[in-house]
Amino acid sequence: MRRVVIVGYGMAGARLADELRRRDQDISITIIGSEPHPAYNRVLLSTVVAGTMTPQSTRLHDEKWAADHNIDLRLGQEIQEIDRQNRTVDGIPYDALVLATGSTPWVPPAEGLLEDGKLAAGVVAFRTLDDCAEIEAKARKGAPVVVLGGGLLGIEAARGLAGRGCLVTVVHPVGHLMERQLDPGAGGVLARTLGQLGIEFRLNSMAAKYLPGDGMILDDGTHVPAELVVVSAGVRAETSLAVKAGLTVDRGIVVDDALRTSDPRIHAIGDCAQHPGTVSGLVQPAWDQAAVLADRLTGTNPASRYRGTSVVTRLKARDVDLAALGDVHTDVDCPDSEVLCFQEPSRGRYAKLVLRDDRVAGAIVLGAPDAAATITQLYDRGIPAPTDRLALLLGRALPAEAASPADLPSSAVICRCNTVSKGQIVSAWRAGAESLPQLAEATRATTGCGGCKDAVCGLLDWLGASQPASA
Ligand SMILES: Cc1cc2nc3c(=O)[nH]c(=O)nc-3n(C[C@H](O)[C@H](O)[C@H](O)COP(=O)(O)OP(=O)(O)OC[C@H]3O[C@@H](n4cnc5c(N)ncnc54)[C@H](O)[C@@H]3O)c2cc1C
Repeated sequence: MRRVVIVGYGMAGARLADELRRRDQDISITIIGSEPHPAYNRVLLSTVVAGTMTPQSTRLHDEKWAADHNIDLRLGQEIQEIDRQNRTVDGIPYDALVLATGSTPWVPPAEGLLEDGKLAAGVVAFRTLDDCAEIEAKARKGAPVVVLGGGLLGIEAARGLAGRGCLVTVVHPVGHLMERQLDPGAGGVLARTLGQLGIEFRLNSMAAKYLPGDGMILDDGTHVPAELVVVSAGVRAETSLAVKAGLTVDRGIVVDDALRTSDPRIHAIGDCAQHPGTVSGLVQPAWDQAAVLADRLTGTNPASRYRGTSVVTRLKARDVDLAALGDVHTDVDCPDSEVLCFQEPSRGRYAKLVLRDDRVAGAIVLGAPDAAATITQLYDRGIPAPTDRLALLLGRALPAEAASPADLPSSAVICRCNTVSKGQIVSAWRAGAESLPQLAEATRATTGCGGCKDAVCGLLDWLGASQPASA
């Protein structure tokens, strides 16, 4: 029997175990995770910090899952070494080894943030459930808090903490927020919206020195008070095991389309892997990679290849609706693209649409959820955009088919994180999954970022009201 050993029980490792077992009841699966908890949905940690979800409700698996699925699960164990010669990891033999070690928070080089290589008292990263527990314990109402980093995660942390009544200042080294996903215009509107929710920003600023219990000195010499510092300044692929084992490592562990490392018996998926053309640090590529690797390792489809994932980023912050997808950095004067922009900062609205050959190549949509939904559908399906571009940007051009679940084509992707189409949801409903939890169990829709929940509920209402003749 083939022995697959997975190092890392996070979102990629857990998904791979699921995918392997769905395809093969016999293959031997061992997963080793350094965290003490069963796998959980890391994407939802912002909602835990915001207090809208409990740690328990982020679980991807419960304790019984491993036993029920005949999986050898070892929690709280950090693998130290791969012996490629004898094909073992810390003595555990493998035929195929999968590295799913994720990434670790990057700590800016400010004096005092680290003490003996560990985060100093009052400084917390934002990566794990244990980090969330520590943040929650320290984030008392009225406490001044500094968040280091104005990227997606920093903003989600800041919004959650502001919602708890903390006085939050975000320190960000770039001139606008979320520069990976947003242009300066959108970053400005976002900062204004978040400012109205009580969050302050120090842009173009870096933390220089941490004074425990007092706050941060920035590089311009100013002082920002803080009882708590949350580090959310970016991540680095966790490659230490691979480096030690002599595998090829660049920014991440280098893999090919078969998700093989430079040793064909060792694979890497998720945040720790570096695949050409893939944006790392997001869950959708990790889950797509898990499906491809399961096809290959079980022999279900040995020709399966991973060719990259087009990602849609959504900010999960109460009262702020933001989606960014594809190529957002094309300028208005780019000759081969049509670029449209609309902004209404006073109402927190900004929309930028990049079209190529009449199709959506990229978009930023802030404060206009209807427009975001339509544009995402157009992007996913690769169909031409309606000619009334302005109406599209304003969210008033819902193509007739997007207006009602009944009229959506069967192929329309409803849950992007799990690539679940309307057709799959209808089939699952017809097979008896008539509630949201049952549909989530059967199709995995809503179990990623949760952004599709309303759409899935809309489909459930429609299905309940009238069984469709065809989907
Ligand atoms: C707060 C937050 C919000 C996010 N929001 C989004 C979002 O909206 N959309 C999105 O797409 N992505 C988001 N992400 C990113 C997403 O969570 C990651 O892309 C995803 O978790 C990657 O999965 P992974 O399994 O590769 O890594 P991880 O989930 O980090 O799992 C890796 C696991 O491996 C373990 N490990 C590492 N080394 C070893 C070892 N030597 N031995 C044993 N175990 C080891 C680690 O402890 C960890 O449990 C967010 C992340 C955070 C922190």
